Amino acid sequence: MQLDLSPEHAALRAAVREFAQSVVKPHASAVDHDHRFPEEAIQGARELDLLGILVPAEYGGAGLDHLSFTLCIEELAVACASTAVIVDVHNSVACEPILLFGREEQKRRWLPAMARGEILGAFALTEPGSGSDAAALQTSARRYGDEYVLNGSKVFITNVGHAGLYIVFGRTGGDHRAGGISAFIVPGDAPGLKVGQVFSKMGLHGSPTGELVLEEVRVPAANLLHEEGKGFQVAMRALDSGRIGISGQALGIAQAALSEATEFTKERHQFGQPVAMFQGVSFMLTDMATRLVAARQLTYHAAVLCTAGKPFTREASMAKLFSTDAAMDIATDCVQLAGGYGYVSDYPFERHFRDAKALQIYEGSNQIQRVVIARELLR
Ligand SMILES: Cc1cc2nc3c(=O)[nH]c(=O)nc-3n(C[C@H](O)[C@H](O)[C@H](O)COP(=O)(O)OP(=O)(O)OC[C@H]3O[C@@H](n4cnc5c(N)ncnc54)[C@H](O)[C@@H]3O)c2cc1C
Repeated sequence: MQLDLSPEHAALRAAVREFAQSVVKPHASAVDHDHRFPEEAIQGARELDLLGILVPAEYGGAGLDHLSFTLCIEELAVACASTAVIVDVHNSVACEPILLFGREEQKRRWLPAMARGEILGAFALTEPGSGSDAAALQTSARRYGDEYVLNGSKVFITNVGHAGLYIVFGRTGGDHRAGGISAFIVPGDAPGLKVGQVFSKMGLHGSPTGELVLEEVRVPAANLLHEEGKGFQVAMRALDSGRIGISGQALGIAQAALSEATEFTKERHQFGQPVAMFQGVSFMLTDMATRLVAARQLTYHAAVLCTAGKPFTREASMAKLFSTDAAMDIATDCVQLAGGYGYVSDYPFERHFRDAKALQIYEGSNQIQRVVIARELLR
């Protein structure tokens, strides 16, 4: 595999880095402190076509590949992890299922507005009683004539309240597990669709996460995504490539923490020298840098396989598992290397630590990544 970035990928990374550092990063601390949606960053992302990264030009998007998508998410996450997850979820698990499974009229109806960022997307799979075991979901979707009527309750939904479109998974019948699940495109203003509690979280304070309640929500049968009973396939395929985006988030958080800790330890003097000069400190920095390079290669490799249309489920799970564990460990060690300053919110270290934790949990916890990898290895 070619590990160097092509000139096009390098130019894209440079452009997104410039945007992220100049427009997104200056607000990251306030967004976290005030628990507010990063409007300036999302507006800038719209203008840069970052809300239609994977959407082909014929539907108004940038038409880029998964490595480009990963680079964009990584650079956003260096600057502000909340912004990165908002953009990531919109592109990967909201736009991409429509791209992969939507009928032509569904693509033409929804993708241009999503690519322009006029409609923000969300993915509503998890329920109070079904997280890792997503096939146990209970939301019902009953067909009456040309409509489906959805009832149920979703939880932990990223972009809740800000989304103009939710990919919702409900049970249409058939068997009681995966085979009975269908996927629907549900407009954010559908009567009966309500935002419940928006959670106060440990980190990712700018990214809204909360409950979505569906009470007699009527959607036209034309909003069924893929076929009836094939919704679980839609969810699993979306999450496969979604995990590459989560890995990109991890790379960004880890890179930010490591760069800032490296600078901090070069400037902080104790016992008459920079603390970075103590071997006990420099070895921590070297181990972090090595893990980060390995995580990046795993992630980019999964992205390249995905774009090439090759099997990538195992590689995406490996990348997600390795890079998010690395990000959590790196963020933790960077708090340590900043000493007391690492523990206070005047410095970014504790934010990276809080933000990194979510990545080991969402889009399949890291235990579930091991389940996926084992299944792929043993089949
Ligand atoms: C910030 C955030 C944003 C999120 N965004 C979304 C979103 O946009 N859309 C959405 O649908 N969901 C979203 N989620 C939900 C997320 O995907 C779930 O939280 C996750 O899948 C875990 O489910 P759970 O919380 O119900 O935990 P559970 O499934 O109850 O798991 C509890 C513990 O048991 C472990 N466990 C479970 N099964 C096994 C097993 N077979 N083997 C070993 N260990 C196991 C888990 O790893 C975990 O440690 C989000 C979550 C968070 C925290």
